[in-house]
Amino acid sequence: MSLRSVDSVWPVNHTQAGPSPGELRWMTLMNIDLRTLAILLALTNLLQVLALFAQYRLNNSYSGPGWWTAGTALVALGFASAFLQDNSTIGSIAIVAASALFSSGMALYYVGLLRFLGRRERPWPLILFCTAVTLVAAYFTYIDVNVAARLINLALAMALLSFLNVHAILANRTRSIATSAYSVALVFLVQGLVLIGVALAAAFSDAEGLYIASPAHTALYLDGLMVSVLLTAYFIIMINQRLNAETREAKETVEFIFNASPDPVVLTRLADGAVVTANDGFAAQSGYAGAEAMGMTTLEMNLWKNPVDRERLVGALHEHGHCDNLEVVLLRKDGSEFTGLLSAKITQMKGVPHIVTVIRDVSARKRAEEAQRRSQELLTLFIRQSPIYAFIKEVTPTGSRVLHVSDNFQQLLGSSVSDMLGKTMSELFPPEFAATMTADDRAVIANGLVLKQDEDFNGRHYTSIKFPIIQGERVLLAGYTIDITERKRLEAQLRQQATTDDLTGVANRRHFLELAQTETSRALRYQHPLALALIDIDHFKKINDAHGHAAGDQALLLLADICRRNIRDIDVFARFGGDEFAVLLPETSREEAGAVMQRVCLAVAARRPDLGRGPVAITISAGIAGLASDGDSLDALLRRADQALYQAKEAGRNRVMTEPASE
Ligand code: GH3
Ligand code: MG
Repeated sequence: MSLRSVDSVWPVNHTQAGPSPGELRWMTLMNIDLRTLAILLALTNLLQVLALFAQYRLNNSYSGPGWWTAGTALVALGFASAFLQDNSTIGSIAIVAASALFSSGMALYYVGLLRFLGRRERPWPLILFCTAVTLVAAYFTYIDVNVAARLINLALAMALLSFLNVHAILANRTRSIATSAYSVALVFLVQGLVLIGVALAAAFSDAEGLYIASPAHTALYLDGLMVSVLLTAYFIIMINQRLNAETREAKETVEFIFNASPDPVVLTRLADGAVVTANDGFAAQSGYAGAEAMGMTTLEMNLWKNPVDRERLVGALHEHGHCDNLEVVLLRKDGSEFTGLLSAKITQMKGVPHIVTVIRDVSARKRAEEAQRRSQELLTLFIRQSPIYAFIKEVTPTGSRVLHVSDNFQQLLGSSVSDMLGKTMSELFPPEFAATMTADDRAVIANGLVLKQDEDFNGRHYTSIKFPIIQGERVLLAGYTIDITERKRLEAQLRQQATTDDLTGVANRRHFLELAQTETSRALRYQHPLALALIDIDHFKKINDAHGHAAGDQALLLLADICRRNIRDIDVFARFGGDEFAVLLPETSREEAGAVMQRVCLAVAARRPDLGRGPVAITISAGIAGLASDGDSLDALLRRADQALYQAKEAGRNRVMTEPASE
């Protein structure tokens, strides 16, 4: 027997090993020629390819039908290959090709099913599987010629792929297409079982019997015919069932949105503008309840405050087929008006063009916008006219920009208000100052209110307060700045006045006592010497009387000046009141202090100033006391210096009297 005669399943060239009498009976009974079956199947599948392709072109929104078309085409080619199986060279190739085409066709059904159900397959296992089936077929065709093994290989492979298809349907959500999907699953299940039966039949039948159209072969072919027809039918039903389900769902969704939308939705005929249907939102907004609006046109309803708006809407619809967010003023049944944003679209209903219009009431938003615009204007006015420096900035990730500033910033920065608007800090201020300001702005955004006291700018002092204003997505920063230069000067002046003598500018009695107390305590603690001198102008009343009060003042200034020149920086010098002065000399013994005062005394006496009416002889008396090493105090020291001064006066004036040493 030649290889090709063994390969062939056709009842040709079987003189040596032909069909058994039983098989011949079977053939006669069936009276079917497998070649006829094969060509019939190839043609049937070809027709199904056309049907599936048409379906695929009609709704190419689904993936799946394309793969099924390709799969059926491969199956058709598989049967065409089967037709070519004779004992020629082409025949043996056709045998192997049929296995490859049948298994690949089934694999494509599986890919199509998964994709139709919204899943993705992993291609490599399928490719490897089909390759393996083909290689096994080739092995049993060319190397170990075995028709039974070849048949078992193909039948089991196709059975496995059939069960995979069943699994694909059962494992995925197919609720909306349940009947057709389960029918497809049933067809695959039956096919799988039939194929297992075919494999078993091939395994247990007489090897010789397989040369010709055995019952197993015939069953395989008839199963193929039935399955392909049923599958194509159910695939098409499944696509349409899904389409119907989705159309129904979409309709239900649209109806739900239509009824549930709080925004008015109204459907009117394009031809005459009559209302066909309107939702509850429209009834609530327009005042035309339920059926009242039906059949009326929007013009009859007096919906348009400016009827020209309707013409704009219709014009846009005719031009573009839709109209988006047209802002119009509409009237309710009671005549009150509201601002609406209209979006409309021409839609076909049972072949008649209609307009579906959605209205959004934006009156509240318009009012809010208007209120915001007005408050913005007022704020701008308020800021501009503010007597203190006021500003509002917008803070962005890149820095802050001026939105509003008070007019008086013009004097502060030297540029006009309009020039400042929109500028960043670095465009308005010197770099270092701008950097500090930007950092402060960030701190305001992060922490809220920030108070910056006594900031130096251009030689003047400012105190500012900044706080954030959050406006939706915008972050604004408002602030006030006060020029405190004058206040600081007044404060400094008051401080000065509280501690100094107005006429001479030296410390006053109160300040002297404060400083002297500190010095005395320190000297006592460290056992350092300290001396106190009290100075008084002799017969000052006479100077006043003789030369006038102003001349007396001159004399006081002269004495203050001479004293200051003769004492050290560390000495505390003060006008005690009237014509009396005091000098506290730290680290100085009473003798050393006596010498200093002696110098002052001589200097004053030597001066003889002209106070307006010729030279005047001025003399002073001074009393000096020294701090005792223990048990002493400032009060006691003052008392003793006063006694010494008194003694100097008593002793004839123009002299320095030092208290006697206390041992
Ligand atoms: P004595 O030698 O005893 O000190 O005699 P005196 O006249 O100086 O007497 P006393 O020191 O008690 O008088 C102080 C006078 O200084 C009294 C007052 O009229 C005068 N006097 C006080 N304050 C001022 C001042 O600010 N300016 C002027 N011109 N005179 C003042
Ligand atoms: Mg005096």
